[in-house]
Amino acid sequence: MPAACLSQQVVVIGSANLDLTVIASRLPREGETVLGGELLLSNGGKGANQAVAALKAGAEVRFLAKVGRDPFGDRICRDLVAAGLPADGLLRDESAPTGVALIVVDRQGRNQIAVAPGSNQLLLPVVIEQHEPFLAHGTVMLVQLEIPIVTVERALQFAKAHGMTTILNPAPASALSDDLLRHVDLLTPNETEAEALTGIAVSDLPSAAAAAKALLLRGPHVVIVTLGAQGALLCTASIVQHLPAIPVAAVDTTAAGDAFNGALAAALAGKPQTDTLRTGRLRVLEDIVRFANAAGALTTTKRGAQESLPTKAEIERLLAARPLP
Ligand code: ADP
Repeated sequence: MPAACLSQQVVVIGSANLDLTVIASRLPREGETVLGGELLLSNGGKGANQAVAALKAGAEVRFLAKVGRDPFGDRICRDLVAAGLPADGLLRDESAPTGVALIVVDRQGRNQIAVAPGSNQLLLPVVIEQHEPFLAHGTVMLVQLEIPIVTVERALQFAKAHGMTTILNPAPASALSDDLLRHVDLLTPNETEAEALTGIAVSDLPSAAAAAKALLLRGPHVVIVTLGAQGALLCTASIVQHLPAIPVAAVDTTAAGDAFNGALAAALAGKPQTDTLRTGRLRVLEDIVRFANAAGALTTTKRGAQESLPTKAEIERLLAARPLP
């Protein structure tokens, strides 16, 4: 099938981790041991979460990641393939263990997290050229910052060279060069990341807009600041539009940002690319942000990460139940 016929194809290059979580009555202080409940194992990593989010939101997804050749890596590969991601992109490293996040959560839902990136750190730029046929036919490339920055940079350059639209979710917060940002079409920081990238304290809509404007000057055509329960702020050179969150009974906000980004990529991949971005077509951009807002909101209504991500039908049902004013 020629590339042009592939519909809604999203390429994600990023991290895959195993999350080991203990729920305890309170978080341990320095040097302290607290006894917790049972150990919960779940698949995580922003790359894997966003790839599954895009898939469930209706896109055809190719995910490139690296896990170790160990039981955690076996488990991640088995589950991601069962979810519907192609096995070809799930690389195994002989020398490093699978990335692990160690998480302690207290009864109020506060957490402490330490991550050992393991094999994610060995997802080096060379793998992108090595997997060119696998990656080259995407419509949208979606990347985050849990793999080496040189790989993120190469991924964005590769995507632009192959005519794809690029989305960078700059998480976790990290400094980014202007050269890297020039290859980004849509940038999707949350409030903390927008602040880290600009030095502007983001606490409300005007400060989010000021940070977005500063970021637009560095290359992206569109900046979308996600604002948790406030929704998202959509900014281009000519518009600043607040799209409020969809009110839901939130129980766990884990992976809300991942759901938002995966759904955004899936929705964008279904639209005519050049029109949408270059001319900043407001209606189309608003529609994809509303779709992403609905995905983020639904994710907060269930516990967990990948298991809480909504399907396209669930997202569309929520949107249909809330007609536009
Ligand atoms: P992150 O998880 O990266 O910090 P946010 O907290 O900004 O990202 O959440 C991402 C998106 O998820 C928001 O833009 C919003 O659409 C949705 N969302 C998050 N929290 C809520 C909530 N309490 N109610 C409804 N939607 C939410």
